Amino acid sequence: MRCYKPVDVKIGVLALQGNVSEHIEAFLLALNRMGQGYSSEVFEIRHPADLSGCNALAIPGGESTTISRLIDKNYMYEPIRSFSGGIFATCAGMVLMATRVDDTRVHTLDLIDMTVDRNAFGRQRESFEADLPIKGLDGGPFHAIFIRAPVATCAGAGVSVLSRMDQGIVAVEYGNHMALSFHPELVGDTRLHERFLKNLRILP
Ligand code: GLN
Repeated sequence: MRCYKPVDVKIGVLALQGNVSEHIEAFLLALNRMGQGYSSEVFEIRHPADLSGCNALAIPGGESTTISRLIDKNYMYEPIRSFSGGIFATCAGMVLMATRVDDTRVHTLDLIDMTVDRNAFGRQRESFEADLPIKGLDGGPFHAIFIRAPVATCAGAGVSVLSRMDQGIVAVEYGNHMALSFHPELVGDTRLHERFLKNLRILP
């Protein structure tokens, strides 16, 4: 006899371009650290049907103009916009989540009321690292890696700003969504992934 038991937690990582495997590894690590007692799957998403049953979606960093084009090409724009779970967006993902961006080639998802400057740190500081205080995050500053990072230059009243630098806002939460200018999937510190998952209230 075969019994069907649904998976408790399903996390999809948009796999059109960018650092996909790092996100999968980071979510697996976060789930592991959050304890046992539930089943989970973390997998790549490429087509609208892949989203079915997902509790969360990660939109990785990469090149927001390219990811945007591929989202449209793969008919993913509306399915992501109407996705009912939480979205964890990093770097180029943060650009895509915005309402407004300084580059008309990006067809933003318009899911977080913020204006984003795509390459806010310019050429001189294409990549750098910084220890960031993050609102409400226990355990001290977060070691953040910025790679051609964007910032939000303004955010709507309902958007919770978690961290900012001189150039602008680098971490926000909005409802079930989290958007970060930097790359938490690269540092082995899963506190932000865990916080995102806790907010979704899907773990038993
Ligand atoms: N600034 C880049 C963009 O707009 C994002 C860089 C990144 O994801 N590392 O696409």
